[in-house]
Amino acid sequence: MELSSGDLGRREFGKLLLTSIGMAAGAPACSSSSDYTDADEAALERQKRAEAARSGRGPHGPLRFRGYRGLAELPYFELDPGGQLRLAADDVPPAIDIHAHLGIALLFAPRIDLLRRTDRTRHMLDCDGSDPGCELDLDVYINTNFTPEMLRQLSREVRNQLLFGSHAAETQTIPNLLAEMEAMNVERTAILPIAAGLPFGDDLTDEWMGAIARSEARDRLIPFASVHPRDAAWREKLRGFAERGARGVKLHPEMQRFFPDDPAAMEIYAECESLGLPVIFHAGRSGIEPSFMRKYALIRRYVPAIESFPRVQFILGHAGARDVADTIPVAKRNENVSLETSSQGVTQLLELVQELGPERLLFGTDWPFYHIAAPLATVRLMSEGRPDVRELILRGNAERVLGERIRIAGKVECLGA
Ligand SMILES: [Zn+2]
Repeated sequence: MELSSGDLGRREFGKLLLTSIGMAAGAPACSSSSDYTDADEAALERQKRAEAARSGRGPHGPLRFRGYRGLAELPYFELDPGGQLRLAADDVPPAIDIHAHLGIALLFAPRIDLLRRTDRTRHMLDCDGSDPGCELDLDVYINTNFTPEMLRQLSREVRNQLLFGSHAAETQTIPNLLAEMEAMNVERTAILPIAAGLPFGDDLTDEWMGAIARSEARDRLIPFASVHPRDAAWREKLRGFAERGARGVKLHPEMQRFFPDDPAAMEIYAECESLGLPVIFHAGRSGIEPSFMRKYALIRRYVPAIESFPRVQFILGHAGARDVADTIPVAKRNENVSLETSSQGVTQLLELVQELGPERLLFGTDWPFYHIAAPLATVRLMSEGRPDVRELILRGNAERVLGERIRIAGKVECLGA
């Protein structure tokens, strides 16, 4: 990767290494500045407490399961003869997942064979990795289900993906994703790379687009691209990715360490406008990231992008994560904003539909962080008895935002607005 300045060299590299080692976060931010105030940190803590207090008090009561396979208790799922979770037959239309990734290998980590089928997918929240499975509460932000030991394991995973290679990431392949999509009736999935901004070994878009093109699942995976605003060659790369068929751009301000309202990033949105590409942001704080990253994800820093480019579709990943309350007024004011549902609990999703209407929510999973069944179960529970809401969130809204051509009984119809 060509770099525009020393800024992305040793200092950023060192910070990423620190990040990978200090991932088991929860540590409070140590200094207050206008970029990140004590009030910001207090709001995060308040969200965690409020959510814990209301878990299980929604219309479905407690929603706690043992492992992903424990979701077979819900009427939507069943276990196949091999003990694998699958969807029970029903008439819900096949879903489109707007937020997934593949196994990551950066820097010194040996490249992963993304076309290999392996035994069992090891999700980042490996909830079926023990017997009994981990406790899975679907009425809280899903990363609440990581125990301290699982968070330490996650931290080791992230470091291995960056440095030495990860055995879990070797199972996060296209055939394994497809098997889960089959079992969960997901028709198509957007694959989102992240340009980490490393001095080398940082070409996920190229690698993943290549793997998708070589796979048998070409028409079921929707390739997205990522560029880094401090990469001097980002424009040329982005145009190249668009020419090769990228359908949108993924930006992760925390992992990429830039403010969404950075002038360099604003140029990327302008380019997306001229290329006609939607932007999916990681938006808001997850609460388990290293504290120095949190300032990049505060919702107020996304507003200038959204307001300056009303013709660009902005999708806020995880509906703004633990900063979801801040995304609601932003989405109300700006029609070019959609919220992606992964990680949010059932009661929170109900509130979003009530506040914004069902047209503004897009189904996402964040696979391979979680089994597809968990985010799918939350959307199905939230839309129980409302098939129109369910259809829009699982599928219809994604087709609209992507300007997607869909096949109906062999015909191709364009649903793009
Ligand atoms: Zn993600």
